[in-house]
Amino acid sequence: MSAFQQLGLQENLLQAISDMGFETPSEVQEKTIPILLDQETDIVSLAQTGTGKTAAFGFPMLQKINPESRTTQGLILSPTRELCLQITSELKNYGKYVQGLNVVAVYGGASITDQASKIKKGAQIIVATPGRMKDMIGRRMIDISKIEYCVLDEADEMLNMGFYEDITDILSHSPEDKSTWLFSATMPKEVAVIAKKFMHKPIEITVGTRNTGSANVSHEYYLVNARDRYQALKRLADINPEIFSVVFCRTKRDTQKVAEMLIEDGYSAAALHGDLSQNQRDLVMKSFRTRQIRMLVATDVAARGIDVDDITHVINYQLPDEIETYTHRSGRTGRAGKTGISMVIVSKSEQRKIKRIEKIINKEFVKKDVPNGMEICEIQLFHLANKVKNTDVNHEIDVYLPKISEVLEEFTKEELIRKVFSVEFSRFYNYYRKAKDLNVAEGSGGSGADRSPKDSARYFINLGRKDGLEWMDLKDLIREITQLGKDDVFHVDTMNSFSFFNTETAHIDKVMEAFKDVQFNNRKIDIEISTKGRSGGRGRKKEGRGKGFKGKGKRGDDRGGKFRGKGGDDRGGKFKGKSRRKNDRPKEKGTGGRRRRR
Ligand code: ADP
Ligand code: MG
Repeated sequence: MSAFQQLGLQENLLQAISDMGFETPSEVQEKTIPILLDQETDIVSLAQTGTGKTAAFGFPMLQKINPESRTTQGLILSPTRELCLQITSELKNYGKYVQGLNVVAVYGGASITDQASKIKKGAQIIVATPGRMKDMIGRRMIDISKIEYCVLDEADEMLNMGFYEDITDILSHSPEDKSTWLFSATMPKEVAVIAKKFMHKPIEITVGTRNTGSANVSHEYYLVNARDRYQALKRLADINPEIFSVVFCRTKRDTQKVAEMLIEDGYSAAALHGDLSQNQRDLVMKSFRTRQIRMLVATDVAARGIDVDDITHVINYQLPDEIETYTHRSGRTGRAGKTGISMVIVSKSEQRKIKRIEKIINKEFVKKDVPNGMEICEIQLFHLANKVKNTDVNHEIDVYLPKISEVLEEFTKEELIRKVFSVEFSRFYNYYRKAKDLNVAEGSGGSGADRSPKDSARYFINLGRKDGLEWMDLKDLIREITQLGKDDVFHVDTMNSFSFFNTETAHIDKVMEAFKDVQFNNRKIDIEISTKGRSGGRGRKKEGRGKGFKGKGKRGDDRGGKFRGKGGDDRGGKFKGKSRRKNDRPKEKGTGGRRRRR
């Protein structure tokens, strides 16, 4: 490992580097900086997010431009406004001892005339998003006919975002003989095309393995039913009391929804997506940077600009449509030498995507179980103990101490600990004690386990282990009653006092009809359709009732068909219609008092 001094950087830049506390250059810096300082060349530099690419092109550019001239000599194109601002501020930092340096950011959503007037004063370096840049060139507010260096930063992202035309247009206003420096985390075909079209014999530098995620990131997945996604998310947050995370959703709508639910449930969360005003986005990012927000729920596009170190977890609430995007998501953690975890909440139908991602990142996922309630309580308890241990005493309390001691006089130390801890513990305990297991067993239910859920219906039945039935027994029983074939009944999951199983939707009528008036050990068998097909079974109740539950009225209509919770275990076999399963369901929401105090 070399030091920055050995890369050929001049004194005023080295001074800034030491001010910033950078000790050793990162690999991409070590490989790129000497080349760019030495030669007038085009370069393609591939390195993961968070590896220090900004400095890799920033320092050479700062050293090579002439700060005494007011001519624009360097142009940096970057995909988003956030990145653009970030690069600008980094460059200003790097160049703080460069006399006369003027770096100007150009991006949409802010006053174009302000930006134009800043440029008019003479900007040696312009950092721009393609859209606004093209606009300003078109209005003759910017002249790039004399630039010597052009950086395409996060080239893959810019192309992803559809900036190809804009980039082509912008570059057509720049001189032929400039040097073009392309930086990218990945090298998809499109980037190769750009390299070919706009560059002359570029030197290629690859740091780490192509397309591979950061070595510091471990990848985990959690297999749950799609409808349990949100509950799983909360548990993952609760089992990690120090979480500082980005939660990725696929759409703006989901992003907003998940953030709202988290906030309602007492988490320090916020949404980041394109429908927010620039002002709102800035506020959110500010709170995230200062850690007031611990769970930033974001769309892929909105998160592009996020450069916050120390993110502990990236949570894929949903997997991205484009598998490649996963690399970008997970690259938000494990930055600057830190370790990070990328978690994926996945339903059975998406599980094969995990394999495809593994191929791309060249790493294996660890399948983990969603923690159960008691595991979470335990973690929270020990977290609290450590927090108490490490808390600095606030001496403002001292004056009240005699009075407080008086109130608590009667308790021993032991009793006091018990009480203090119960305050926090009960909050989680009350919330989680009846919470069900969210994990979906891989291949449970024997045959047909990998059947697509699209065309199958899931049933709830009030028989379980308590009745001496393991899933194989139950499956046999169901087949006996319904006369269905071996493969026609699948995904049989047996709990203590109830179970679930699936059949093709085509068999619904047959199943419901067959179970009509059937008894088991002198007890009426209750069966209902839990979910039907992929849509989560909208309208499922009607069919079920129409056939099998004549006259049972509205029972369960307000349950939304979600038979959550194994609270039913303590029912002692007393099935009293409407009230029962409703009460069983652990109230996952609005338990109150679940505010996170941070
Ligand atoms: P990239 O563009 O590759 O995603 P950045 O240039 O944004 O990465 O750098 C990521 C983080 O690492 C930034 O916070 C930056 O200040 C920091 N950083 C860059 N180079 C070094 C270094 N040599 N030593 C320590 N930190 C560094
Ligand atoms: Mg960068």
